[in-house]
Amino acid sequence: MIVVMESHATQQQVEAAIKKVAELGLRSNVIVGTERTVIAVVGEEREHAKEVLEVCEGVSTVMPILAPYKMASREVRGEPTVIDCQGFRAGGTQIGVIAGPCSVESEDQIVTSARSVKAAGATALRGGAFKPRTSPYSFQGLKETGLKMLAAARDETGLAVVTEVVSTEDVELVARYSDILQVGARNMQNYRLLEAVGNVDRPVLLKRGPSATMDEFLLAAEYILNEGNQRVMLCERGIRTFESHTRFTLPLASVPYLHRKTHLPVIIDPSHGTGHTYLVPDMAMAAVAAGADGLIVEVHPDPQNAASDGYQSLDFAGFSEMMDRCRRVAGALDRTLGGPHA
Ligand code: PEP
Ligand code: MN
Repeated sequence: MIVVMESHATQQQVEAAIKKVAELGLRSNVIVGTERTVIAVVGEEREHAKEVLEVCEGVSTVMPILAPYKMASREVRGEPTVIDCQGFRAGGTQIGVIAGPCSVESEDQIVTSARSVKAAGATALRGGAFKPRTSPYSFQGLKETGLKMLAAARDETGLAVVTEVVSTEDVELVARYSDILQVGARNMQNYRLLEAVGNVDRPVLLKRGPSATMDEFLLAAEYILNEGNQRVMLCERGIRTFESHTRFTLPLASVPYLHRKTHLPVIIDPSHGTGHTYLVPDMAMAAVAAGADGLIVEVHPDPQNAASDGYQSLDFAGFSEMMDRCRRVAGALDRTLGGPHA
């Protein structure tokens, strides 16, 4: 349910309504909007809960939330959520750009990448230190050593660091060295991990599972929001279909669909979404044209010799050119892409 307070409701009236919600055995998530405050009420609803709340002072209306996800739903929050983290912004008129290698390989590799992607206008640095690999024999990442290298790259450039956390036990460690936590596609339905990142004061980039439906994707986001962390970004990174000319199939209709259903920013990953370097720039432009709030792109100083995902990584010149082209698309839509560039 959503309890919509009257526009002139006092703080005491909001608090009294929250108390009543608790007495009904339900939980409140308060959303202070520009016009009025709304309380998203979640939990197993008892009979007459709606009627009890309707008569509280300062309450305008009580409405059911029809979507299976509540906190993520547009019904709860009309305005888009803007993620603002250390120069990285996504969700408003500015389109955030996260770029960097698939994996952190050395301090030189990550610092050089950070400098180059920043010069091209990226607003955050990506790089995996804990890698979820299909094969146990593939490179698994440099773990804490890699996190320290990412932190060094942030010190050098000021870019926000986005890196993946693959298990509940590592959440605190990864959060210590990074600015934005990535939950990877393979972990989208790892509910204990979602709860753990929901209790950390860091924005979360949640990637769609390759076989997850949109409702499953939004319910995964709901796990994070329900723990109190409201800074969630949804990342479409492609799904598995019968088609094999691309690594995954990148459905760009996800962007306008998610914008209709949720207030959360939508980020597109054209690297994993296509699996081929030559397809990345065009799909990045298409994502911007579809209204994406951000891009996450794999960029490597020497893609041919990358420890992972080199075949879908851009080199520095390719990334810079992609940024120029995407900037023009963004400009045509009265949006700005990334940050200052050389
Ligand atoms: C990645 O970003 O390198 C990654 C492993 O992505 P995904 O979880 O989308 O496969
Ligand atoms: Mn990758």
